[in-house]
Amino acid sequence: MYTPYPMTSKRRFLSAILGGRVDRTPVGAVTSVANVEQMDETGASFPDAHLDGRVMAQLAAGAHTILGYDAIMPYFSVAAEAAALGCEVDWGDRENMPAVRTAPWEDPAQVVLPADFLERPPVRAVLDALRILRAEYGDRVALVGKVTGPWTLAYHLHGVQAFLLETLTDPARVRAFLDGLKEVTVLFGRAQIAAGADVLCIADHATGDLISARMYREFLLPYHRELTGRLGCPTVLHICGNTLDRLDDIATAGFDCFHFESKVDAREAVARAAGRISLMGNVNNPEVLLNGTPEQAAAQARYARDAGVRIIGPECAIPLVTPSANLKAIAAVAREEQA
Ligand SMILES: [Zn+2]
Repeated sequence: MYTPYPMTSKRRFLSAILGGRVDRTPVGAVTSVANVEQMDETGASFPDAHLDGRVMAQLAAGAHTILGYDAIMPYFSVAAEAAALGCEVDWGDRENMPAVRTAPWEDPAQVVLPADFLERPPVRAVLDALRILRAEYGDRVALVGKVTGPWTLAYHLHGVQAFLLETLTDPARVRAFLDGLKEVTVLFGRAQIAAGADVLCIADHATGDLISARMYREFLLPYHRELTGRLGCPTVLHICGNTLDRLDDIATAGFDCFHFESKVDAREAVARAAGRISLMGNVNNPEVLLNGTPEQAAAQARYARDAGVRIIGPECAIPLVTPSANLKAIAAVAREEQA
């Protein structure tokens, strides 16, 4: 495990994503690790942090400066693209994540990318935050950008129920939506790379609760292959829920890493991935990080690390009232290796 030199957080995190050498297990997540305690300590709070790049950067840096994680990921919600494309968004408050309230598009013909998409406030805030973070932390901390994948964008823009029904009744219409929406993912992803992201999270909620493994393979896998190819940078796929039955396909989509949830056992995930893709995760949010103890968080992080999960951290965007002590306990597990 040891290498004879200390690595920066950036080298450690990126190396693990790409399957390379590390001096110790890196810690982090490609989904939000912001909480109310960090808002108090940094003086940067939700909901301002969703719409102002300076506030966003200030809060996001807490992942490294307060929690001791190896990566900073400033795009806390998954609502920026939806808001910029015309969905009504409730930006929430200090204890509540933003929520997309309306699905304005009935028909795939309505999928039009506005010329000023990258300038629209919630999108621009993410790009501004990455530029600020790049200047301050770019030499030593991994900067993670995040884009919403076309499947999740279809949920937001067209509606979950309508979209899922059409996978059965009108597959051509589903593909027409995905064909249009994938361009949003590419445009925003490339802009985040240009702004300073080292790696992109693609959040695309093809979760086992809503779609089958066969549907993932038939509908989404070709789009994920196209996206990883066109984006070209290191990529991490994030999907919530139980994903074990589609991990074999995910491992062939061109992602460097898969960020997975505690519904999948870490040992089973590592066995299924079989070295084709790195894994990140998968400490449970609701029972362990939100309501458990630092000892429980450390035990789960150790289990994941010892199973062969390359980057340990929360399984998904953490609840905002999660105690920092539980989040720091994961970082302490990684540092045990350097003791
Ligand atoms: Zn998730």
